Amino acid sequence: MTKLINTILKSTLFGIFFVSLVACQPQEQSTQKSIDQDGSEAILATESQKEVNLYSARKEALIKPLLKQFSEDTGIKVNVISSKADALLKRIQSEGNNSPADVLLTTDAGRLYRAKSAGILTAIDSEVINTNVPSQYLDEDNMWVGLSIRVRPIMVTDKGASLGIDSYEDLAKPELGKSICIRSSGNIYNQSLVAGMLNTVDETAVESWAQGVVANMARSPQGGDRDQVRAAAAGQCSVIVANTYYLASMLADQSNETDYQAASKLKVIWPNQTDRGAHVNISGAGILKTAPNKENGLKLIEFLSSKKAQELYANVNFEYPVMENIELNPILSAWGEFKADQTNLSVLGENNARAVMVMDRAGWK
Ligand code: FE
Repeated sequence: MTKLINTILKSTLFGIFFVSLVACQPQEQSTQKSIDQDGSEAILATESQKEVNLYSARKEALIKPLLKQFSEDTGIKVNVISSKADALLKRIQSEGNNSPADVLLTTDAGRLYRAKSAGILTAIDSEVINTNVPSQYLDEDNMWVGLSIRVRPIMVTDKGASLGIDSYEDLAKPELGKSICIRSSGNIYNQSLVAGMLNTVDETAVESWAQGVVANMARSPQGGDRDQVRAAAAGQCSVIVANTYYLASMLADQSNETDYQAASKLKVIWPNQTDRGAHVNISGAGILKTAPNKENGLKLIEFLSSKKAQELYANVNFEYPVMENIELNPILSAWGEFKADQTNLSVLGENNARAVMVMDRAGWK
């Protein structure tokens, strides 16, 4: 029988929360203790048959049910360090060869690309993963694996629906007027959207497009994706660009009446359905080159790509599974099927710097 105990120790050094999901089974283990500035002790497995250390940029609540299931199925305990992706990357680099990190989990392909470029990942060779995950969601050199799909379509109020928008390109049409609310160019989701466009559209055209978008902004970019939903519902704008899981989570939580009502006013437009498809990003994972528990790390990623985990992902995070033929949450299925951009997501990382410069030159704050 497996009993799970959660321990949360706060670390002031990296603003990191340490979570340990302990499968109470007899186990052999050697551990490394790291003392954080507030005196709390994080115990991470160095080499063990039954443990894996996960450095995660995902919100803890969103991965906990998956990790619990993994531990129950395999008897492998998962030690989680949660923080922002860039802080985790820095931490792994400063820990060097002594890093206890086995698996890095991030919420976008751009950060996985950074990890790959930094040379801290090792190639993943797995039939299971290659069967479960379509190739456009896998790194070309097998350095990372996409685990869930995050779509960034256009959303409109009734007023916005009359503007005849059916592509990202349409967002730059002068007849839109000051109708768009969108977050800043410093945000990785917008950077990836533009990086994706740069793959099929010439850079000069992307820059004039960005200028057109800036001219159509109802207000200076501010806030997160949920704030764009709220602003549109409040009548500040009628067209927004946002990731669908934000809209879905607002629609799913009826206890927050204001957000629920705001989200209910928006309709999803799947852009570019007759050409490249809607822009998608992924959450995904890679195994560290210095991982002390590589085998368990691989088992964890294989599990996350499995049917069981993919079903959980779809329901807990409101993201789309990478595995085909998984039943969707009803909120997502109500938006209908869509064609996703098939570009290999490595491109988002490769084009990131150019995307940032294009947006900057276009005056996208
Ligand atoms: Fe997000």
